[in-house]
Amino acid sequence: MHDYDRRTLFIDGQWVKPAGEDVIEVIDPSTERPIGSVPAGTAEDVDAAVAAARRAFDPLISVAERRERVAAVIAAMEKRLPDIAETISREMGAPLRIAQTVQTQVPLAVARGFAGVLETFEFEEHVANSLVVREPYGVVGAITPWNYPLYQVVAKVLPAIAAGCTTVLKPSNEAPLSVFEFVEAVEEAALPAGVVNLVSGSGAVIGERLAEHPDLDFVSFTGSTGVGARVAELAGRSVKKVALELGGKSANVILDDADLSTAVKVGVGNAFLNGGQTCMAWTRMLVPRSRYGEALDLIAAAVAKYTVGDPFDAATRIGPSASAKQFETVRGYIERARRDGARLLTGGADKVRDIGYYLAPTVFADVDPASELGQEEVFGPVLAVIPFDDDADALRIANCTPYGLSGAVWAGDIDRAIAFARGVQTGQLDINGGNYNPIAPFGGYKKSGIGRELGRAGFEEYLQTKSLQLPA
Ligand code: NAD
Repeated sequence: MHDYDRRTLFIDGQWVKPAGEDVIEVIDPSTERPIGSVPAGTAEDVDAAVAAARRAFDPLISVAERRERVAAVIAAMEKRLPDIAETISREMGAPLRIAQTVQTQVPLAVARGFAGVLETFEFEEHVANSLVVREPYGVVGAITPWNYPLYQVVAKVLPAIAAGCTTVLKPSNEAPLSVFEFVEAVEEAALPAGVVNLVSGSGAVIGERLAEHPDLDFVSFTGSTGVGARVAELAGRSVKKVALELGGKSANVILDDADLSTAVKVGVGNAFLNGGQTCMAWTRMLVPRSRYGEALDLIAAAVAKYTVGDPFDAATRIGPSASAKQFETVRGYIERARRDGARLLTGGADKVRDIGYYLAPTVFADVDPASELGQEEVFGPVLAVIPFDDDADALRIANCTPYGLSGAVWAGDIDRAIAFARGVQTGQLDINGGNYNPIAPFGGYKKSGIGRELGRAGFEEYLQTKSLQLPA
């Protein structure tokens, strides 16, 4: 049974009443109606949670204890994944099939990745006459968005537990219910009180209090670039560590000798995964002018298969936009792209159903790389197709946005693709359809962020480094 009417926060190992009475309604984007609510916490709640996390922090915690905590959380979480998937579909509209796979199985793989790192990680090394030791970083604030609500929480809370840190978690307002269900798993895992705390509420109140909190050591944020900059600014005032996982405008670069039909098919799928609400989505498809017409035909054929519909309908490949706000933002981008002279190949800004924030998958051709659609993250089912003249032109376009989170390169020969990929300023690239890797470092160049998540690199973000100089 789901509890969608949450009245308590998880602080110091207990579900406790928040300091205030206010709540945040959670809206089902497929019906536009409330499905539940969570407390709108206050700064007082954050202070109580940070104090609990501070008390629970033991810098000398053993690695064996951390392994036990990580294993217990994974076991309790795994049992709840079917329920969490259903909740994610309700609160942010992901098609159930996507919620049951990408939205929940990827976090499980990510969590197991951290357990694996903990099995082999060397916490001490000798560097000449020094013993260099890696210690838990401290008390961590984790601020997460709505688009992959479980994944983003797992990518922060699990490495924190593995490293011996304690956390205060603030989920998004749009999709907090799945995070409450995750925290129930943490409760079942019976970690000591205060190791993981949950405070829901607005970004302006809870997020900002965490970012500026004098007793927090590290704030790890995933969300938009604008809010990330604000978090870094506030965190800077108390000189705390910041990790930022921000937006993207990733390029799918299809070189002239690539397998065009595969590159287009995979590229369209990537751009529209989760309704295009994916930070690492390849939202710009770069196609050689010599194969442009052929590519547009293939794109149109591929997009025609993307059925828009109810998240719980098995045929649905694109659900509603996650919120009214996101829906209006995406429509605005579509309307302005038309005015900027991009050619609408399919889709548009019309509401696809009377009820629900549904948009059709939308493709623009002849997009000017310097235009708003060529530069800015839309975060909806909108693909920009951009022609290029030669490899140098493709590289210039790939690198011409402020972002650098993800991308792809396709070529007839893998060495050619890798050589091209070396020049792209981005945190990760799929080469000729290479698979997503839940333990490879993930993070941004440029305005896509600071720091890395996942696997060993993501784990090390949660460690401090101490050098002990030993006598001869
Ligand atoms: P958002 O920046 O609006 O919100 C993210 C989180 O920050 C939410 O919990 C929100 O309540 C909180 N917040 C809002 N204002 C705040 C403030 N002033 N101080 C502190 N916290 C505040 O982002 P969103 O709309 O929830 O998510 C979409 C964005 O997230 C997109 O830009 C997307 O690219 C990005 N994202 C990045 C990654 C990544 O790993 N790089 C992953 C997923 C999403």
